[in-house]
Amino acid sequence: MKLLEERIREDGVVLDGDVLKVNQFLNHQIDPELMYAVGQEFKRLFGEEDITKILTVESSGIAPAIMAGLLMHVPVVFAKKQKSSTLNGSLYTAKVYSYTKKVENTISVDAKFLSTNDNVLIIDDFLANGQAVNGLLDICKLAQAHVVGAGIVIEKSFQQGAELIRKRGVRLESLARISSFAGNKVHFAGSAEN
Ligand code: 5GP
Repeated sequence: MKLLEERIREDGVVLDGDVLKVNQFLNHQIDPELMYAVGQEFKRLFGEEDITKILTVESSGIAPAIMAGLLMHVPVVFAKKQKSSTLNGSLYTAKVYSYTKKVENTISVDAKFLSTNDNVLIIDDFLANGQAVNGLLDICKLAQAHVVGAGIVIEKSFQQGAELIRKRGVRLESLARISSFAGNKVHFAGSAEN
């Protein structure tokens, strides 16, 4: 997605440990117009599927997920990372190791929000080693919900996540695919500007 790649080139900051900081438009300050365009792109890619629910994980997946949900007219569910006193019913949970924070979280979704009748589109901000999406897939499996695919805003294609998700037989669509951070610059897969 050209608009997104341009914005990453403009505002993305490459940090140590192969981490891209996108606090200008996605992870801290959010650009709603860019997120709307991201939602439109997810709709273009997955709109033909009979999606009933979008599933993401808090907090940075929520902005792109909500725009896709708005445009596809389906509810958005986000998995919670903290145990909450309001989550007292039956839960689907999965363990997720966080790439950026280097901690293991248990993510959970209230069982009443996912069922065997759901066709789920998973959305997240980044795909690195695939742990977050893998955990969301585990949750869908527990709920016996059908997964239509995974939509990612920024994929770091040089890490293991894409392969892991495809190996689970899941359709993966990423709007920007980064092939490397060589020279502390962002290089996109399949881009002539590299
Ligand atoms: P994974 O589970 O695929 O290893 O990592 C995905 C999660 O880690 C995303 O939900 C995102 O929050 C975070 N993450 C992974 N890599 C990056 C990165 O380069 N930059 C930022 N800002 N977050 C990242």
